[in-house]
Amino acid sequence: MVILGVESTAHTASVGLVDDRARVLGIASDMYRPAHGGIHPREAANHHVASLPGLVRSALEQAKVGPDAIDGVAFAQGPGLGPCLRAGATVARTLALAWGKPLVPVNHCVAHVEIARVLSGLDDPMLLYASGGNTQVIAHGSGRYRVLGETLDIGIGNFLDKLWIALGGTFPGGPALEREAALGSELLPLPYSVHGMDVAFSGLFTAAMALHDRGARRADLAYSVEVTAYAMLTEITERALAHRRRDAVVLGGGVACNQRLRGMVRSMVEARGGTMFAPPPSLCVDNGAMIAWTGHLALSEGRSVPVERSAVQPRQRTDLVEAPWRRVRPALTA
Ligand code: AMP
Ligand code: MG
Repeated sequence: MVILGVESTAHTASVGLVDDRARVLGIASDMYRPAHGGIHPREAANHHVASLPGLVRSALEQAKVGPDAIDGVAFAQGPGLGPCLRAGATVARTLALAWGKPLVPVNHCVAHVEIARVLSGLDDPMLLYASGGNTQVIAHGSGRYRVLGETLDIGIGNFLDKLWIALGGTFPGGPALEREAALGSELLPLPYSVHGMDVAFSGLFTAAMALHDRGARRADLAYSVEVTAYAMLTEITERALAHRRRDAVVLGGGVACNQRLRGMVRSMVEARGGTMFAPPPSLCVDNGAMIAWTGHLALSEGRSVPVERSAVQPRQRTDLVEAPWRRVRPALTA
């Protein structure tokens, strides 16, 4: 079975093709980069409309397959920015109708878990999902993925991007802040906002800007922000492991490309005698392959929808969707 997946929830338009062993047969992505400031949903959607047809062609060429070899078309139904989601859904519906293939809606957060799960070979890991718009600790329970902890305000990546732009940089801020942080050495005092299983970043942003206004070195600021914010994420992940009596963690989301975050979570998990796995960066960030793979899991359970019931759901929660494949089959090893 070969599935084509379309991702378009935020700034990245991506098309991936996977087979039934989760091998990535083709993947083509293009990220919208605003000239200044953060993401403008309508402009990002225009970018996706313009780039997706070429990405479909490119992924098919890489995979060396034609429409006949494809068994279904999956798309990210939510959560995400409405105009961006609609751009991807429109392309997926068009392909499904033109090729006469089933259309499979996929939850974007669940897709991050499933690609990390299959690549890791771990059967039942928890996911620390750290991306631009989302920050959640997710575990499976009773037929669904459950959010055990999350951000109470903005996503970690949006926080890093916003801070970097306020410090004079450009989007995306996370990778640039990581390079800057490597030059820092002094740990400046910043608020540590963990509330039970949840975290918050707006106080951290205000405090970091106040330090900046008082002349703190940018490298020390970047270093201190990374250490503080990633310690908060590591703490809620550890609390979730302890409560759920789990011993494995996978990472997902663009911020999971960060070496400091990977290192901190790995140290915590290994100190508990557990296992940590992070996918390669190309499959940590938003990508069509994770949508295709989760579409494969759903379609194996007969889950597809007619076009008239395929509306996008910008606020679709992780725990709103069923994950029936978890009942019947363990993770495959890639
Ligand atoms: P996503 O929303 O999952 O596609 O991820 C995009 C987010 O990941 C943006 O906010 C980026 O700034 C952030 N990001 C990407 N690479 C890194 C990195 N190495 N360190 C921290 N954040 C990163
Ligand atoms: Mg994402």
